Amino acid sequence: MKIKGSTNIVGLIGHPVEHSFSPPMHNAAFDELGMDYAYVAFDVNPKNLQSAIEGAKSLNIRGFNVTIPHKIEVMQFLDEIDEVASLIGAVNTIDFKNLKGYNTDGIGAVKAIEEVSSIKNKNVVVAGAGGASRAISFYLAKYGAESLTILNRNVDKAQGLAGDVSDSGLINDVNAGSISEIGRYLANADILVDTTPIGMHPNIDDAPIALVGDMHEDLVVFDAVYNPNETVLLKEAIKAGAKPVYGIKMLLYQGAESFRIWTGRDAPVDAMEKALKDTLNLE
Ligand code: NAP
Repeated sequence: MKIKGSTNIVGLIGHPVEHSFSPPMHNAAFDELGMDYAYVAFDVNPKNLQSAIEGAKSLNIRGFNVTIPHKIEVMQFLDEIDEVASLIGAVNTIDFKNLKGYNTDGIGAVKAIEEVSSIKNKNVVVAGAGGASRAISFYLAKYGAESLTILNRNVDKAQGLAGDVSDSGLINDVNAGSISEIGRYLANADILVDTTPIGMHPNIDDAPIALVGDMHEDLVVFDAVYNPNETVLLKEAIKAGAKPVYGIKMLLYQGAESFRIWTGRDAPVDAMEKALKDTLNLE
């Protein structure tokens, strides 16, 4: 990649940002298509968030990804928020053409799952009720899931999220419960979405034990954890004959959707996936 006088800048704002996988992934995409863009990461202290957005506008920056801790706070500095991002209450992508915020995390998960199964008319169990669950749950509803059952350690949080998704009017059948009872919900489930950090490096031997024995061969199992690539949950899913969906695919497709928003072009997902795997040292 050659930086020239004409080069368009996109990037990431967060705090911290130095371990992000987005720069190699997006720069591989621009290289692949020979586009005059570069993607850089900016560590923005929360107290400088507003001036960072105003400065980026003045500098003609084309787009940002937004990560922790700015995903919610940044919304007040934008002119427009995409409808589903507004329901989620967080953005991870800004398009400076119209200073509009989007949330592509949930789209990323849905596109990852749709590599192996459509979402439409499916019964989905979601484990966890944090930020990732919130983003994914609204998009599962938007993509036509028949029912959504949100299970969490803190059941109040699951009920709160289920209520918000239900109020959106995107889906009729939304339920909440305790993650400790996940086994009994799986028999009728088509898709399991695990948004808890259980099994994430360095605790790679952990799995939500209660559910491991209850997976079946008609189930699709998505794990948001991407390090390691194949978590204990996914290993057990494969043993049970279920179809695994890897967390890295969510990273990939959220990036692909941001790329499309900024450039108006379809993202070269193969080149992006290769860059992600190289960065994560996966095969
Ligand atoms: P978060 O907001 O902190 O939420 C974590 C959720 O997991 C909460 O519902 C929490 O339950 C539950 N949880 C945590 N530890 C648990 C345990 N030991 N047993 C049962 N439940 C537990 O985190 P997040 O931002 O949603 O991220 C969750 C995971 O998704 C992380 O591993 C993250 O790396 C991954 N992620 C992946 C991608 C991707 O692109 N692949 C994107 C975003 C996030 P309580 O409410 O009861 O505490």
